[in-house]
Amino acid sequence: MKYSEFFIPTVKDIPSDAEIISHKLMIKAGMIKQSSAGIYSWLPLGFKVLKNIEQIVREEQNNAGANEMLMPTIQSSDLWIKSGRYDDYGKEMLRIKDRSGREMLYGPTNEELITDIFQTYITSYKELPKNLYHIQWKFRDEVRPRFGVMRGREFLMKDNYSFDLNEETAQISYNKMFKAYIKTFLRMGLTPISLRAETGPIGGNLSHEFQILANTGESTLYYDKELESLDPESLDPEKLQSYYAAVDDEHDEDKCPIKKEDLKISKGIEVGHIFYFGTKYSQKLKAYVQDKNGKKIAVHMGSYGIGVSRLVGALIEANHDDKGIKWPMSVAPFKLSIINLMPDDQNCTTIASDYYSSFMAENIDTLYDDRECSIGKKLSDNDLIGTPLQIIIGKRDISAGVVEIKDRLLDSSEKIQINDVKKVVSKKLNF
Ligand code: ATP
Ligand code: MG
Repeated sequence: MKYSEFFIPTVKDIPSDAEIISHKLMIKAGMIKQSSAGIYSWLPLGFKVLKNIEQIVREEQNNAGANEMLMPTIQSSDLWIKSGRYDDYGKEMLRIKDRSGREMLYGPTNEELITDIFQTYITSYKELPKNLYHIQWKFRDEVRPRFGVMRGREFLMKDNYSFDLNEETAQISYNKMFKAYIKTFLRMGLTPISLRAETGPIGGNLSHEFQILANTGESTLYYDKELESLDPESLDPEKLQSYYAAVDDEHDEDKCPIKKEDLKISKGIEVGHIFYFGTKYSQKLKAYVQDKNGKKIAVHMGSYGIGVSRLVGALIEANHDDKGIKWPMSVAPFKLSIINLMPDDQNCTTIASDYYSSFMAENIDTLYDDRECSIGKKLSDNDLIGTPLQIIIGKRDISAGVVEIKDRLLDSSEKIQINDVKKVVSKKLNF
């Protein structure tokens, strides 16, 4: 993509209600524009990151055997009345009347709808287990939408639902998802900390919350230091669930089961939440299957959520400096920037264009900064939008036979011979 043809409306002035760094940087980098309280338009750069995150989430769901589908945003109130949540959900639910006066709502979550789909088609234990998910916008009329996309009213969530014959197999489904979650966050370069959580209004027996570490996070976490160095290739959910982790109001120094030197304290942001809630919805919405003996059994269910749009903000909270965003490679909107400092100079432009076409041919998401603007603006914009690897092409360097390669994540720079650049970049990007 040529910068001159891409829409990245970077701005200097940010609204005063942008309190936290990710919100400020997302506005500054031209990633989002607020349309009304807690509701945002995703501009091209923000949208690219959202899609990259979504894709990692999707791949790990698929790897864990979940089936992707898509349910609507607008739901009828009928099923919610049956489950008893139509009244319970309160003011967070956006209620709408259609032209015939039917009561509809903008879905804040999907337990009711999915349970109804399940019961329409599945009648035998032989078809279990099943695990279905979608990545869809939700609406919750939060009392205080704030922190940009971190607590929006309209937000993108991956939610899936597992269906099992009994508690024992439901636990297997739960652990599979637990592992998929850790893997998902590790792939984004984040450090996930899982905490045993209260089940709250969703009801049920077992629940974990997933937080990621970020110095600017809202919660304070106490946890076993082992959780900071997990190997994504050998994740054992039962072992992971046994490590100590607690939020500050649940942590008690005297009762803490691990040694002081093994205990770490950091700030965290919640990005995911999983629940096993047994037959709560299956009984109310009549999701029964026949077991081996022909007996009707209410299926055991779990639900699992990841805040896809919240992750964009959380990733920035975990990865930034005073110049801007530092995207981890796996979610970066562009992996590489080619910054031509002198578009008027024939030599610079020939070399920049040559690099651009060869990296594009390798399918590397590359931003070619071909703009006619000051050198200072070029450098600061590319740092602000957070491209992890940057090739900087200037007249003086070219005469000396070199270009600069900057690693935004390590905050380091080196001069490389013009002809070695492709080799060096390929190595850094692993292709
Ligand atoms: P919170 O306690 O933050 O309100 P929740 O318990 O209501 O979260 P869940 O219903 O478990 O959240 O939703 C699953 C995930 O969706 C959360 O872990 C979070 O990442 C995300 N999420 C929830 N509410 C919002 C919101 N208002 N804006 C953005 N993401 C959200
Ligand atoms: Mg909530």
